[in-house]
Amino acid sequence: MNEYVNNSLEPLQQWYCDNCGEVIEKAEEGWLEWYRDIDKGNAFRKGKGFRIVHHNQRCMYNEKELFKQNKLTADMHLDHYVGPDGLVYLLSKIQYDQVEDNAEIVEIIRRLHVPYYEEALKYHNIAEEKGYFDGENEVTRYTTSTSKYILNHYKK
Ligand SMILES: [Zn+2]
Repeated sequence: MNEYVNNSLEPLQQWYCDNCGEVIEKAEEGWLEWYRDIDKGNAFRKGKGFRIVHHNQRCMYNEKELFKQNKLTADMHLDHYVGPDGLVYLLSKIQYDQVEDNAEIVEIIRRLHVPYYEEALKYHNIAEEKGYFDGENEVTRYTTSTSKYILNHYKK
């Protein structure tokens, strides 16, 4: 039995939508999206504003609205970015310098590829309040064991 069955996410298979906060039940129902600032000089601009959302108009970026703000949206089915090959796609974005702030894409990689991180993220604020992160280094917050501890101790 999975100890997290009730109101839990299936690790690496379900996520919380960055727009509506509801569960994305499976990768096929998800969407990874971002945008680029449009450069008048046509220079290649790097991606930013990465989000994991439901694949429906209600949750996705409004392409026309962003275009009015000189932003060009880009996106792809979420199932393209899960599993080993999904990881390869995301890592290449970093290697070939396609992202404005690598911290953004690294966070997306953790959410898609590190078990329990996505769900634990929801309770990081409580862990923070309880002082669980005191004395952490740049790795501890993101490990699977930390996420499991958070879910076992701080999940409501
Ligand atoms: Zn949504």
